[in-house]
Amino acid sequence: MQTIDNFNFKDKKALIRVDFNVPLDSDYQITDTTRIDATLPTIRKILADGGSVILMSHLGRPKGGPEEKFSLKHLLPYLSEQLKLNVKFADDCIGQSAIELSSTLKPGEVLLLENLRFYKEEEKGDDAFSQKLASLGDIYVNDAFGTAHRAHASTAVIARYFPQARCFGYVMAGEVTHLDKVLKEAVHPFTAILGGAKVSGKIEVITHLMDKVDNLIIGGGMMFTFIKALGGEVGNSLVEEDLLDISRNIVEKAKTMGVSLYLPVDAVIADAFSNDANIKICNAHDIPDPWMGLDIGPNTLHKFEHVIEQSSTILWNGPMGVFEMRNFEEGTKRIAESIAKATDNGAFSLVGGGDSVAAINKYDLAKRISYVSTGGGAMLEYIEGKELPGVKAILD
Ligand code: AMP
Repeated sequence: MQTIDNFNFKDKKALIRVDFNVPLDSDYQITDTTRIDATLPTIRKILADGGSVILMSHLGRPKGGPEEKFSLKHLLPYLSEQLKLNVKFADDCIGQSAIELSSTLKPGEVLLLENLRFYKEEEKGDDAFSQKLASLGDIYVNDAFGTAHRAHASTAVIARYFPQARCFGYVMAGEVTHLDKVLKEAVHPFTAILGGAKVSGKIEVITHLMDKVDNLIIGGGMMFTFIKALGGEVGNSLVEEDLLDISRNIVEKAKTMGVSLYLPVDAVIADAFSNDANIKICNAHDIPDPWMGLDIGPNTLHKFEHVIEQSSTILWNGPMGVFEMRNFEEGTKRIAESIAKATDNGAFSLVGGGDSVAAINKYDLAKRISYVSTGGGAMLEYIEGKELPGVKAILD
């Protein structure tokens, strides 16, 4: 695998695709710096070599032209402070200012380009646009795992302009290495925990994991489609009627493949989708109308924790309940703690997906997880066994 460690960047301009798609509040202050922080080691290594750095990223979902709220200039103070230097800014990612600022960039200096998605050509994977970006640097570095599943101009197409000079940054290399460790070299027993709102979007993930894992734990809103498929009464809980057959097939496939599939036995139910609703604990297969299940129950937790704490490899994606509401966060919180405890005892744990990572951070457990993935959609596609365009473009 070609990484930045295979290159000496002395007197070279590294053009780095980063994922600086960070949340900003109404005063344009960054509310979660995780994605920027993750890329700092890559930037520092190149500067330490005596190279210069040109950073390019998207931010938010602009409609195809400049928008103040999506300008990357809001990131300059934080970035400058972290790197302890004055980061320069090109207010257009291509064109005169980008060309002038990049051509005069000296070793040790950093230039940030304006939001790539101010051009619709970025998401279209436009070749001419890729070429203009490519002309700004000597070595192309992809360090944006969060967009690696997209064949965009800056994430994939651009790589063809650097046939001898393209590589992964530390974030990308870390993601691929750790995901491979789980998917290809897992120490058994291997337990995957899946949650989140829906089964749709996770079917391929479940199917692909089936011949790798020993235990498959299912929680979150998606559990009710499975429970209904098995003949349970789920009241007003979230159900995808069109996936009942598929869910039944998954349960059958687990049996024939010798995978232990764990579904919740009890649930925290509510009479409305609200933190102020009335709540009680109920058998997960016997939920009365119009009540709905919004978290896994105590007996389920007891069982799930036991399985997790016996595991040597753990993969988690998706919350166990509506953890954004205090009354329905217990399941997600205790599963996160259980994974941390198993990790303390020697298991390898990998957690990914926006909500699961938010939960890990909310409960201050990041240091007790082996690897926290920065990619949601990209991670799921990698687990599905798909070749990610951003990864392929570097490897080919
Ligand atoms: P996803 O984006 O599919 O990973 O789903 C994440 C969302 O699933 C979170 O916002 C949770 O609030 C939601 N969720 C988890 N459990 C349930 C549930 N039992 N009913 C409805 N939504 C849920």
